[in-house]
Amino acid sequence: MRKKIIAGNWKMFKDLAEANDFFKELIENLHESKTEIMVAPSFTNLWHSFQTTRDYPIEIIAQNMHEENYGAFTGEISAEMLKSVGIQRVILGHSERRLFFGETDEQLKKKVNCAIHNEMHFIFCIGEELKDRNANHHFTVIKNQLKNSLFEISEKDWKYIVVAYEPVWAIGTGETASPEQAQEMHQFIRKTIANVYGNEIAENVSILYGGSVKPENAKQLFQQSDIDGALVGGASLKVSSFIKIIQAI
Ligand code: PEP
Repeated sequence: MRKKIIAGNWKMFKDLAEANDFFKELIENLHESKTEIMVAPSFTNLWHSFQTTRDYPIEIIAQNMHEENYGAFTGEISAEMLKSVGIQRVILGHSERRLFFGETDEQLKKKVNCAIHNEMHFIFCIGEELKDRNANHHFTVIKNQLKNSLFEISEKDWKYIVVAYEPVWAIGTGETASPEQAQEMHQFIRKTIANVYGNEIAENVSILYGGSVKPENAKQLFQQSDIDGALVGGASLKVSSFIKIIQAI
């Protein structure tokens, strides 16, 4: 059975005190639920956030990691370092990493292999740009992103993967894919995985939607049969909106 997940991506927002306040308020307002709740603070907040939330059903995850285990890579963080502060999951391939930091499918394949080698779970982000959708190339772009970075891993390693479909044109823009557009793409992603790895793996992988998810649009998105939750940017920065999204699933 695939899991329902709501994951917050804080990007480069919130210092230590702000993170602390957020988790105190989140813990006070959290109700029992079968949904897995994840939050990705900045690197500097990981250890403290992990300590603050370790007795609650909140998983602290990282926003990125390097593809090597160690070395002369100034400013970078390895899977082992993340694990040493309690982190078991990382976001890979976020469109902001692809766009602003030049991450390619080839580099992401190395990160994927490194994560698996270190038994690190990951949320793998894919998504087309507006020009791809306007040119009707969106399915090809998504298929290639999957193929180039994920499709050489072995069947047994799919247990480490959650896929996040995040159309680039909907991230931080206020523009959301319609529930029908999102469902169409999620179904395509599941079918593409099934064609290579079979139905069982495809049916068990959680596929999250990301792109301006808010309390107002979450319910309709979550009603779609192939949408298993959300990767949430802006609306994960406030406990009130994050909780409403969790309650919508
Ligand atoms: C994201 O950062 O993954 C994201 C989906 O951002 P937003 O919800 O702000 O569009």
